Order: sequence, then structure tokens, then C-alpha cells
Amino acid sequence: MRYHIGIAGAGFAGAVLARELAETGKYRITIFDERNHVGGNCHTKRDEETGIMVHQYGPHIFHTNREDVWEYVNQWGRFEPFVNRIKAETEKGIFNLPINLMTINQLFQKKFRPKEARDFIGSVGDSSIKDPKNLEEYALKFFGKEIYSTFIEGYTRKKWGVSPRELPAGLLQRLTVRFNYDDGYYDHQYQGIPVSGYTEIIKRILDHHDIEVRIGQRLDPERKRDFDHTFWCGPMDGFFNFKLGRLGYRTLHFERFIEDGDFQGNSIINFCEEDVPYLRISEYKHFMPWEEHEKSVCFKEYARPCEANDVPYFPTRLNQDIELLERYMDMCESEDKITFIGRLGTYRYLDMHAVIGESLDLAKVCQQKEIHEWPKFSADPMEA
Ligand SMILES: Cc1cc2nc3c(=O)[nH]c(=O)nc-3n(C[C@H](O)[C@H](O)[C@H](O)COP(=O)(O)OP(=O)(O)OC[C@H]3O[C@@H](n4cnc5c(N)ncnc54)[C@H](O)[C@@H]3O)c2cc1C
Repeated sequence: MRYHIGIAGAGFAGAVLARELAETGKYRITIFDERNHVGGNCHTKRDEETGIMVHQYGPHIFHTNREDVWEYVNQWGRFEPFVNRIKAETEKGIFNLPINLMTINQLFQKKFRPKEARDFIGSVGDSSIKDPKNLEEYALKFFGKEIYSTFIEGYTRKKWGVSPRELPAGLLQRLTVRFNYDDGYYDHQYQGIPVSGYTEIIKRILDHHDIEVRIGQRLDPERKRDFDHTFWCGPMDGFFNFKLGRLGYRTLHFERFIEDGDFQGNSIINFCEEDVPYLRISEYKHFMPWEEHEKSVCFKEYARPCEANDVPYFPTRLNQDIELLERYMDMCESEDKITFIGRLGTYRYLDMHAVIGESLDLAKVCQQKEIHEWPKFSADPMEA
């Protein structure tokens, strides 16, 4: 018997899983996306006026240490190597991000070598903070007041809409400080951008005789009964019609503008001062330096609280969200024939490589188990 599988969401999470299941020949898959395109938040499209490839929901750079994930995406399209080098505009000037030896030497007007810089940053940290309880305390303890106020404080307030004292320390644990001149934003071994865009890759992944793609169509939770099993890449709270309230998210909106030639000389510039209303400007021609374009298309990116009709971008995961998440997870556990996957289904911030890796791993688990034993989540939503 061939099982009929329903998937809500045609981003990377849903598409990779659909393909892996289809390849076994045991399933017929119908995948829905309520948007009028596949690709989810990684959707790419050429700008009509300039011809430049734009990432419609914010700039996406592929990066991973997982060789199998890198090989997987490369079989669907050609990637050009791309190392993201971000600049930060601050009240004290323009600096490299992540914070590296150049940033430290410029900010403090020093000529430190790596060990000296490490010792110096250790000495400016606030040693009276023993066990940092929030993001501000973490930053003051490990980086000191100058770095915190120049790079972190204003940007964090704009991005999350609350004082850094209200945010968990864990949010900063991903912040890299390098004591060398490496200015690549990501540490990962494999980094690149697909030449024909992410949407083209996802279209190819979904191009299989056992996969039916329905774009512009929402899969309603009650339609779960139409399928032998459903994979839900939509918001976890949305599946239950927000019965217990809404999990917190921040959303983004983008302001497009066109310039001649080169507007800012770099793919991304972050604006760290709180009184600059936007977070960053992305200039898309710099993500594809192998192409030539006379004009340039840029986007200012603004963050704000996510309302009912907004696209949920970044899960806030504040204490009250985690309490609510626990209650929704209990509800998920009591549902049958469904697995919650991807960034929205598990209420976590996940990069593309993580989502793809989880879907590849989940497909293997599904092969080893009977359909009624398939897990409720692609990974533990509590572990972000
Ligand atoms: C601003 C920003 C920048 C980012 N930059 C990077 C980066 O540089 N590198 C990187 O690796 N990652 C980046 N990411 C993360 C990346 O976007 C995610 O990893 C990826 O989108 C997750 O894929 P997904 O399939 O889980 O979710 P999504 O891409 O969000 O796809 C979910 C899809 O489900 C659809 N859907 C929801 N509910 C339903 C329903 N009931 N019926 C039908 N359809 C439904 C939605 O319309 C959506 O299209 C970035 C994210 C953001 C917000």
C-alpha cells in the first residue's frame, strides 16, 4: 500500500522531506504552500527593474559544516563560493563584523597582536558579574562596556524591541569575537550562494512524479484527516488556531530603493545606532559578484512585533513564550498522524543547513519506523 502524505509548507523543510520520501517509492505526496511560490522564506526572484537576484524575505547565505548537506544542495544547482563580510556602521565609524582583531584595534586605537587583544578584552570585561542572567550582563562580562555600547546595545533593542536586560544571555552565545583578521561572518567550512537562486533549487527538489505541488493553497489543520500522515511546517500555535495564545515572534519589513552603480560597496551594512530606524541595508548585486549590473537594488530592513497578519520571522523565545511552547507541545503530543517540522513547526530560529539536515535525518527515521511510530517533532523544540 502507498501512503498519502500531506505537507504544509514548501520551504526547505517540507521540500527536502517530500523528495526523500518520494524517492522510496512508498508514498504519494501532496505539498501545499499558502504563498504563491515555493521556497518559503528563502524565496529568490530577479528584480524586474535591475535584473538582480533578490532574496525576497531577507539575504540568505548558505553555510554548513555538514558535508552531506552541502553535497545534497549542490546536486540541485550550482553554488558559487561566497563569504559574507558584514560591516557595522556605528557612532564611532565603520567596522568589521564579526568583531575581529581589526575591529578591536580600530575601536580602541591599538596595534594589538592576537594574544594582547585577547588579554585586553579579558581585562575590560566586568568581572563583578559572576553568572550573567541576561544579554546585557553577558556582553558586559565578556566584552566590556565599549563593545557592548558600540555594537550590541542599540542594534539589539531595534531587533528585539526590548531592553537587552530582558533577553536571555544565550542569544549572545552565538556572537563571535575573533582574535585574528578573519572577517568572514560564518565559521563554516562550506559557504556559497546558488547561481540560479534558492527557489529554482527547491523547484527541482519538488520535481518528482510522486509529488504534487499546490501553491497558493493553505492546508487547514482539519484536513489532516485526508492523509495517512501530515508534516506541518507552519506555525505550531497556528495548527491549534492559537487556542492558548500566540507564540512571540518579531517580523521584518523591507524598503526597496534603486541606485546607479554601487550604493554602499558591500552586501550588508548593519546600523548599530538606535536612532537609525532600520537594522541593516542589503545590496543584492554584491551577493553575486560574478554578475554585472549597471543599477543596484537595495533594501532597508526594519524589525517590529509580529501581529496576526505578519510573516513570523524570529521567535522571541522569552520566558512566557517557552511556558506557552511547553503547553502547545503537550497538545502536539496528543495529536496523531502528524509531525511538526522546520523553523515554524518547532518554534526555533534555524538556518537553512539545519533545516535541510533535520529533514534528511527525519526521512531516514521514517524509513526505519512504521508510519504510526513516526515522531511528533523533527527535533526537540526546547533545544534552540
Ligand atoms: C531575515 C532572515 C535571514 C536569514 N538568513 C539566512 C542565511 O543567511 N543563511 C541561512 O542558512 N538561513 C538564513 N535564514 C533562515 C532561513 O530562512 C530558514 O532556515 C528557512 O527558511 C527555514 O525553512 P522552513 O521550510 O523551515 O520554513 P519557511 O522557509 O518559513 O517555509 C515555511 C512555508 O510554510 C508555508 N506555510 C505555513 N503554514 C502553511 C499552511 N497551513 N499551509 C500551506 N503553507 C503553509 C509558509 O507560507 C512558508 O512558505 C534567515 C532567516 C531570516 C528571517
